[in-house]
Amino acid sequence: MRVINFNPGPAGLPLPALERARDELIDFQGSGMSVMEHSHRGKEYEAVHDETISLLTELLGIPDTHQVLFLTGGASQQFAQVPMNFLHPGTSADYLMTGVWSEKAYDEARIVGQARIAATTVGPDKRYVRVPGQGELQLDPRAAYVHLTSNNTLYGTQWHTWPEVGSVPLIADMSSDFMWKPTDVSRFAFLYAGAQKNLGPSGVLIAVARKDFIAQGRRDIPKIFRYSLHAENNSLYNTPPTLAIYLCRNVLAWMKEQGGLAGMEARNRQKGELLYRSLDANAGFYRAPVERESRSFMNVVFHLPTPELDATFVAEAKKAGMVGLKGHRISGGIRASLYNAVSVDDVRALVSFLEEFARKKG
Ligand code: PMP
Repeated sequence: MRVINFNPGPAGLPLPALERARDELIDFQGSGMSVMEHSHRGKEYEAVHDETISLLTELLGIPDTHQVLFLTGGASQQFAQVPMNFLHPGTSADYLMTGVWSEKAYDEARIVGQARIAATTVGPDKRYVRVPGQGELQLDPRAAYVHLTSNNTLYGTQWHTWPEVGSVPLIADMSSDFMWKPTDVSRFAFLYAGAQKNLGPSGVLIAVARKDFIAQGRRDIPKIFRYSLHAENNSLYNTPPTLAIYLCRNVLAWMKEQGGLAGMEARNRQKGELLYRSLDANAGFYRAPVERESRSFMNVVFHLPTPELDATFVAEAKKAGMVGLKGHRISGGIRASLYNAVSVDDVRALVSFLEEFARKKG
């Protein structure tokens, strides 16, 4: 029996993608071994690798100017690797601060070189309940790049309009909303996302890089950290996380069957609207702190009247077959993560549970 999984990441994966992995696990395509037992230089794995890249290219409409990279070390490693590659000596980078993950990215950049905060929406209580508007950005036109976090997993805020940054390269950590809807990747010089929320298991990070931008990356850093090296070797310079990439392939094939990113967006909008509508209708009991225009469709954060009721809510939801709802220890409350694999029916189940809970305890 599978539960309804609202985990923030690693998160639920679509059942057909898991079933396909189960069916192929012991004997991958008649080769007498699983995909993870194959050489990463063999034709069986190579076909999986290339198919994953072509599915990403097709679903995202990645133009020829850009290239897919499979990397390891998670988004946390990119917080360091981005400035190592792009923060050339004597330059400075702009960071847009919208939550804990952008703070971590900024902190790493400051170890490597010069970085400045070009906007922050941190409140007096150190929390974030919105993303900044264009008028709040104090951009340096000479910055090496502008870095933003597209979706703030912990506080449940999301950018719904990309900022205008002129000719400065835009870099985004899209870990928690990558491929939730069609995205114009040509706007970004470099974007990256850990797979473990919308796309697959942990262990692989997917980047989409503008080729001329990474080609100009710093050469005075160890080779293994240079994006250009991974690009030149089609992400096969060293052994990639083959099983994780294979599982992403299965999830991407499922996404394609569901109508691609337009299909994902329709589902995701319906899910978010169902849940926010119900929270707003029960606003006397549930409090959703994020400002309306910045609400995330991926992570819906809300609070009950007391922390004790938050805990009871999580415990009773678990008895009803719904897991992963406990808010992050920093933000508290409840967080329902509605990544691509969560269905509209899963959200309907949560909505009836929370409405019933408010009737009983409100
Ligand atoms: N950025 C964002 C937006 C995230 O949500 C997370 C993980 N929750 C990270 C970065 C860090 O990812 P990892 O643990 O894979 O390094």
